[in-house]
Amino acid sequence: MEQSKPLARIIGSGVAGLAVSIRLAQKGYEVHIHEANAYPGGKLSEFRLGAYRFDAGPSLFTLPQHMEDLFLLCGEDPVEHFPYLQKEESCRYFWEDGKRLIAHSDPRAFAEAAQVSLGEPVQNTLAHLALAKKQYEATSGFFLERSLHRLRTYLRPAIFRTLAALPSLGLTQTMDRIHRRRFQSKHMVQLFNRYATFNGSSPYKAPGTLCMIPHLEFGVGTFLPKRGMVDITHSLMALAKRQGVKIHLSEPVQRIHYEGKSASGIELQSGIVLSADLIVSNMDVTPTYRRLLPGLAAPEATLRAERSSSAFIFYWGMDRQFPELNLHNILFSERYEEEFEALFTSKTLLDDPTVYINITSKDVPNDAPSRGENWFVMINAPSDNGQDWDALRTQARAAILSKIQRVLDVDASEHIVEEDYLDPRRIESRTSSDRGALYGSSSNSAMSAFLRHPNHGPLKNLYFCGGSAHPGGGIPLCLLSAKIVGQSVKG
Ligand SMILES: Cc1cc2nc3c(=O)[nH]c(=O)nc-3n(C[C@H](O)[C@H](O)[C@H](O)COP(=O)(O)OP(=O)(O)OC[C@H]3O[C@@H](n4cnc5c(N)ncnc54)[C@H](O)[C@@H]3O)c2cc1C
Repeated sequence: MEQSKPLARIIGSGVAGLAVSIRLAQKGYEVHIHEANAYPGGKLSEFRLGAYRFDAGPSLFTLPQHMEDLFLLCGEDPVEHFPYLQKEESCRYFWEDGKRLIAHSDPRAFAEAAQVSLGEPVQNTLAHLALAKKQYEATSGFFLERSLHRLRTYLRPAIFRTLAALPSLGLTQTMDRIHRRRFQSKHMVQLFNRYATFNGSSPYKAPGTLCMIPHLEFGVGTFLPKRGMVDITHSLMALAKRQGVKIHLSEPVQRIHYEGKSASGIELQSGIVLSADLIVSNMDVTPTYRRLLPGLAAPEATLRAERSSSAFIFYWGMDRQFPELNLHNILFSERYEEEFEALFTSKTLLDDPTVYINITSKDVPNDAPSRGENWFVMINAPSDNGQDWDALRTQARAAILSKIQRVLDVDASEHIVEEDYLDPRRIESRTSSDRGALYGSSSNSAMSAFLRHPNHGPLKNLYFCGGSAHPGGGIPLCLLSAKIVGQSVKG
C-alpha cells in the first residue's frame, strides 16, 4: 500500500513562501499554500496603469544564485526558466550642487569615476570594497545562511572564520562613523551610508557590520529579470506547481490550531479547518502571533523591536523619455542625517527627501509606450504609527517634484499621464506587514540579528520564513530564510 505524504501548509505566497514550498515538496511533503490576496507574491507583485507596467515593490535584484539554487534543486536549468541580465551600471547618483556619478558595478571603474567626479582617491574606494568583500565572505555563512538559534550553528568549524573577522566588523561603531574615517569626499560618505536603507535602517545608528552590503553590488553585481522583477514570483510559482504544490489564492488564514506543543492545522477565514503535519508562516511574525495564535505567549521583545523604515511610492506613467536617467537613480537629500532623524525619531518626512527613481522600461521596453517611461519614484518613510498619511502624501509628492526640478531641471508633473501610489498603510493592508515596514525589524543595533524571530517555534512543527524572520528582509535573505526552514525540516 502506498504511504500518504506528510502534509505541509504554508500561510502566504511571498517570495519566501513560494521558495519554502519548493523545498518542502522536494523533501516529500504534499504542500499547500494559502494566500489571502487574489494574486501571488505579496510585495513582489505587479500591476498596470493604462499602457504602463509597474513592479509594485522590489526593484533591485542581487544574489541571483539563491533563485538558481531552487531550479537546480529540482533538476531544472535556471537559464531556461528564469532569464535575467547583469547590469554593467549599478546606479546613477545626483546631488544638488551639480555633482553626478555613474556607479559602475566593476569596482575599479567605479573608483576611477568617483575620483574624477567627486575627488575621492581611487585607493580609498578600492580598499573599502576589498574590506567589504572580506567581511561578507567571513560572516555571511554564519549570520545569513544558518539559524542563529540552534546550537549546531555555533559548533561548525566555520565559526572560527567568523570569530576571527569580528574585530574588523565595527560592531561598536556606526556605518556613518566608519565611512567618515575611510572617505574624504562627503558625497562618498553619503553614497555608502545609503546602503543602510537596503534593510530599512539608519546609517547613523546601524553598526559597521552593514558596511559589507555594497559588496553585493560591486562584488557580485546587480541584476534584472528579463521579464521584470515580478518574474521572480511568476517563475517560482511555476516551479512550485511543477513540483505539485497547490496554491490557493483568496484564502486568508485566520487561526493556527494546536494541541499541546504541536500545531494541528489552520482555520481559513471561511471557517473551514484544514489539518497539517507542518505549518510555515510566511505572514509577518507579529500578526502571526497576534491574530493567528492569540492564546499563545508571544516573544514580546522580538515583536516590540523597532520596525524598519517603510516607503512612499508614486507610480508615474511618463509621456517622454529622460536620457540622463537609467534603471536605478538616486537624487540625494542635502540634509541626509536630518532625513533619518525624521524617519526613526520624529517619525515623519523631511521636506528635502532622498528620491529614488527606478525605470524598468530602460531595460524592458514593453513596460511603457515607445516614447514614454514607467517611473517608480520612492522615498523612505517611517513605519506606521498613526500619522496623517493623506497629508504626508501631499507633502511627499510636492517635495519629490521640487527635488526633481532642482536636480534635473525639469517639471516632472507636466509629463505624468498615469498615477498611483503606495504608502505604509497600503503595504500593511496588502501584505500584513506590521506597521507597513519593508524589511521587518530594523538593523539599527548590533544585536538586531539576534533579536529577529528564529525560523522555528513556538510549536514544534511551526516554522517562519520571510522578511520579518531570520535572517531578515530583502529578496535574497527571504530566499535564505526558506532554505533554513528547508534544512530544519526532516525529509
Ligand atoms: C516598496 C518596496 C521596495 C522594496 N525594495 C526591495 C528591493 O529593491 N530589493 C529587495 O531585495 N527587497 C526589496 N523590498 C523588500 C522585499 O520586497 C521583501 O523583503 C520581500 O518581498 C518579502 O517577502 P516575504 O516572503 O516576506 O513575503 P511578503 O511579500 O511580505 O508576502 C507575504 C504574503 O503573505 C500573505 N499573507 C499574510 N497574512 C496572511 C494570512 N493570514 N493568510 C494568508 N495569506 C497571508 C500576504 O497576502 C502576502 O502575499 C522592498 C519592499 C517594498 C514594499
